[in-house]
Order: sequence, then structure tokens, then C-alpha cells
Amino acid sequence: MSKPGADNLNTAKWQSMAAPLSKPNYQNPWHVDAAVLTEIREETPGVATFKFDWVDAGSSQRVAARPGQFNMLYVPAVGEVAISVSNDEIRSGPIVHTIREVGNVTRAIFRMAVGDTIGVRGPFGSVWPLDRCVDHDVVLVCGGIGLAPMRTLVNEMIRCRDRYGEVHLLIGARTPDDLLYQHEYALWESHGIQVHTTVDQAVATWTGNIGVVILLLERLKLRNPAQTLLMTCGPEVMMMYSIQSAISRGLQRPNIWLSLERNMNCAVATCGHCQFGPYFVCKDGPVLSFDRVERLMEVTDL
Ligand SMILES: Cc1cc2nc3c(=O)[nH]c(=O)nc-3n(C[C@H](O)[C@H](O)[C@H](O)COP(=O)(O)OP(=O)(O)OC[C@H]3O[C@@H](n4cnc5c(N)ncnc54)[C@H](O)[C@@H]3O)c2cc1C
Repeated sequence: MSKPGADNLNTAKWQSMAAPLSKPNYQNPWHVDAAVLTEIREETPGVATFKFDWVDAGSSQRVAARPGQFNMLYVPAVGEVAISVSNDEIRSGPIVHTIREVGNVTRAIFRMAVGDTIGVRGPFGSVWPLDRCVDHDVVLVCGGIGLAPMRTLVNEMIRCRDRYGEVHLLIGARTPDDLLYQHEYALWESHGIQVHTTVDQAVATWTGNIGVVILLLERLKLRNPAQTLLMTCGPEVMMMYSIQSAISRGLQRPNIWLSLERNMNCAVATCGHCQFGPYFVCKDGPVLSFDRVERLMEVTDL
């Protein structure tokens, strides 16, 4: 039995209790790290990709964000927003985010210049089911900014390309100018990703498909629908029509995943802003399998 006061002498215990004060605790979801903006690339009208490096080199000890996850980006005196990781590859730094300028925080990020700093919490949330894709054909369906959370996934599939069967990436945008990451399609195709694009409104120089992205899915030749996996991200109505079309083509509900977007504040399932029936989209999602949420998706305004 330990003597009274022995704990006072237990240096290891005191050191571990003191640790959060002396060095960052990356398991702590409230821990904010500073990151400096190193590069801005304009993508499409109102959308740009921002690359950040950690200010403190020790921050690169953070857990690397995996495809489908998101960070909370904090602009002091303005607020915090959930933004998916859009990195070229899975590693803890630099951090890449593709952002659409819509409101207060995103506008503040668009006003930033190279050299400015931002706060980052994360990564949070569930991941695209890459392991389930091994030896299967995969269809990725995205609309507009919905391609942003899939960029890391596409790059990760390219890195281990022979693990997967056919990979089809179906991308829909409003106009040809709104097609995100256009400059990367040729590279992706050279690595065996079959990229299919369509636009709602064409221009004179456009020779590609016209119409909604679901039309691409309807025309797609599938080798073995019952074994094919589908992942989708974009406006909810687009995802629902894509899923209906996929099911009518013979895809199985447990093989379908979608990324949900809800108003998020805490990102750790305490504030309740993103509650979706029994789920918290920040913790249980954003990537959820369709068979888990099918019934909930039928409830208007949930
Ligand atoms: C898990 C997750 C991942 C996300 N990933 C990304 C990402 O990679 N890139 C990205 O740009 N956004 C992403 N978002 C959306 C982003 O978090 C919101 O757009 C955010 O609320 C914008 O904050 P804000 O302060 O700029 O706008 P707010 O001030 O919150 O909103 C201003 C106005 O814009 C409207 N609005 C808010 N969000 C959107 C939207 N997405 N589209 C259209 N109108 C909107 C609001 O209804 C409001 O009227 C993600 C959201 C979630 C939940």
C-alpha cells in the first residue's frame, strides 16, 4: 500500500498532469493551432484554394486529416467555420482547404493575404470508406464545391491505384467556368481515374456534356452494380437523385455513402447545432452510409 503523500513524490504522475500546460495536447478538441497562409489559388468564380503551414513546427505532430474529415477554421473576432480538407495527400501539414465565399467567416478568409494567420482545430468527423473500396469498382458523384472533400480521396486512390477496380469521378457544375480543379483532371486521368464532367449551362466553346450530373450516372456502364460502391457530395437534392438512380441501377444501399452538411459550431457533438435525428453530423458524420440515414433523409427540414 502506498504511504500517505506518496502521490506527491510520484513525479511521472505530476509530469503527465502538467503536460497540457507545457506542450500542446492534440487530443484536446478545443486546442487551436495557428497556421500561416502560404498560397492562394483562385479556382472558379467565388471559390479559392488556401494553403496553410503550421506556425509552430510541433503542430505537425497532429493527427493527419483523412479523406472526408474537416477542420474548424477560426478567424479572430469573426468566427469559426467547418471546412473539409482538400489536401493533395494524407499528411499533417501543410493544410489545404478549398472555400466558397458565402458569409462572414469565409469572406474574412478571402480578405486574407499570404503571411496572415488563422486558428485551426481538428481534424474532425468520419472518413470516406476507402478500405471498403479495395477490389471494387467505385463511382464518385460530386456537384459544385462537393468535389472539395473528394480531392484527398481521389489523390489517395491514385497513390494506391492498383488496390481499386474502375474509378469513375462524375462532376457536375453550373457552367464550364465553375468546374473545380479543372487543371488536375488530365493528371487524374493519366492515373486511371475516369473523369466525366457535365454543366447545366454551356458556352459556345463547350463541347462536353450538358445536363445534371445524374444523367452521367444513368449513362455510365457499370461492370458489376451489386458490387460497386458509390460516394457522393454536393447539394442534398443532387445526392438524393444520384442515390435513387444508383439504386435503380442495382447498387446496394450499404455500398452507398454521402457527406452531409449541417450548421456546425462545436464540432464535438456538444452544442447540438448539427443534430440529425439520433446523429450529430460533426461526430457521426459528415460521411454516413445511406442505409443509416435513408429514413431521416425523407423528413423535410431535419
Ligand atoms: C462538414 C462540413 C464541411 C464543409 N466543407 C466546406 C468546404 O470544403 N468548402 C466550403 O466552402 N464550405 C464548406 N462547408 C460549408 C461552410 O462551413 C459554410 O459555408 C459556412 O457556414 C460558411 O460560413 P460563413 O460564416 O462564411 O457564412 P455564414 O455567415 O454562416 O452564412 C452566410 C449566408 O450564406 C448561407 N450559406 C452558408 N453556408 C452556405 C453554403 N455552403 N452554400 C450556400 N450558402 C450558404 C447562409 O445560409 C447565410 O445566408 C462545410 C460545412 C460542413 C458542415
